[in-house]
Amino acid sequence: MTANLGNVPLRFLHCMFPSRGQYKMSRLICYTGRWKCCVKSVSNHSTPSAMSTHTQQVPLDYSRFLNPLSSRRSPSKIREITKLYAVAPPGTVFFAGGFPNPRTFPFAETKITLKDGTTFTLSGKSLESALQYQPTQGYPPLVKQLREMTLKTHNPPNWENYEILVTTGSQDGLSKAFDMSLEEGEPVIVQHPIYTGALAAIKPLCPQFICIPEDENGMRPDKLKESLEACFKNKSVNDERGVPKLMYITPTGGNPTGTVLPLERKKEIYQLACKYNLLILEDDPYYHLHFMNENPISFLSMDTEGRVLRFDSFSKILSSGIRLGFVTGPKQLVKMIELHMQVGCLHTASLSQVIASNLFELWDSGKLNKHIESVQTFYKSKRDMMIRAAEKYLTGLAEWNVPKAGMFLWVKVKGVQDVYDMVSIRAVQKNVLVVPGHAFLADPSQPCPYIRLSYTMPSEEEINKGMANLAELIKEEQSHH
Ligand code: PMP
Repeated sequence: MTANLGNVPLRFLHCMFPSRGQYKMSRLICYTGRWKCCVKSVSNHSTPSAMSTHTQQVPLDYSRFLNPLSSRRSPSKIREITKLYAVAPPGTVFFAGGFPNPRTFPFAETKITLKDGTTFTLSGKSLESALQYQPTQGYPPLVKQLREMTLKTHNPPNWENYEILVTTGSQDGLSKAFDMSLEEGEPVIVQHPIYTGALAAIKPLCPQFICIPEDENGMRPDKLKESLEACFKNKSVNDERGVPKLMYITPTGGNPTGTVLPLERKKEIYQLACKYNLLILEDDPYYHLHFMNENPISFLSMDTEGRVLRFDSFSKILSSGIRLGFVTGPKQLVKMIELHMQVGCLHTASLSQVIASNLFELWDSGKLNKHIESVQTFYKSKRDMMIRAAEKYLTGLAEWNVPKAGMFLWVKVKGVQDVYDMVSIRAVQKNVLVVPGHAFLADPSQPCPYIRLSYTMPSEEEINKGMANLAELIKEEQSHH
């Protein structure tokens, strides 16, 4: 078999054909080829007081972040063989995969025309790739491009121990990360208010939410420290149950608040994650949608210990319907998300991946950056329209912070304790639709005076009209309280 498969590394074959029993962590480590053994958690990490916040020299024990269900996942043999198809030397006869023959597909050519007039055409081999099964990790040329982009943007200190996985939007990777790690009833640390999509992914696991409040600069490290001290009182950071292992954060353009976590806070939060042996889920789909002079420094950029799983998205800069995102993080964990994909969608749509890859090939990084800048300018002007309208119509009726990134204005309605009925019943009659703040609370049964307004779609005229309607609604509501 080895001879037939040419230069396929031996460790690959071992991994593809594991013994009949369950897929063990040791085998996973063998697969990655770099982590020779899985060292149990660092001995001096037994109690919080004994922990140092220095860079940890010993690899983390990632099995801590896997729940029993995900530890039982094993690679799909067919999916693993599909990978070989991508790297097999020319002349290899491929009896292995169940690939449909693209000659039977009805599509002959796809021509994509960009708004600047440039075009590219998918035909022949590139169209075949776009219509054919691909490895679960992603279309290989795209994976290569994403690696290069991530290295350039974040320059992660732990790069050789990281892997990348293309996902169907960042939500796909994110929800699978929760499924991989959380056990029913476990505590989980979340920035609060929290993105509804994360909430919906976590809730079925009936977690104990440890909600860390935000101020105008995002999650508060002082509150995080207090909560962690309380959680770990008389407990070890290696306890299997009853202590949090995961921390979910949207550092750039928090949804719903539009906050950006400053670098100093990130450093403090990262140090706390090291001290308490937490995995940071860095959900950053608005990374490029900021209105600041410089790009934020990500948690991934400072991840000396290999405890960050980062989720990127192309939804806000290329297209949301193309459904492309990617996860970057420790190989052992990314591999587990990949195994989950192997039994779900098999891989993210090839057509989307090939289109994106061709676009990145056509655009050098300068062109991509120019495009991102134009997207930022567009949304910044929308944000400014929204703020102007808020100042004109809502002054005295509500409070807000100016969003530093993202797509939303988070508004606190004055003099109304709970906006639920106002928003869900009476706002519709006033021809304005907003989201009640309850959608972003771990406990939505609590009264909430906040609403979320999106400024991405309406024109300036519509923004003004909507704000005027909202102001009327709030005034009427306040008069009843
Ligand atoms: N995280 C956050 C904070 C979001 O706001 C969104 C989109 N609403 C997502 C993840 C999911 O984005 P995607 O389209 O990449 O799945």
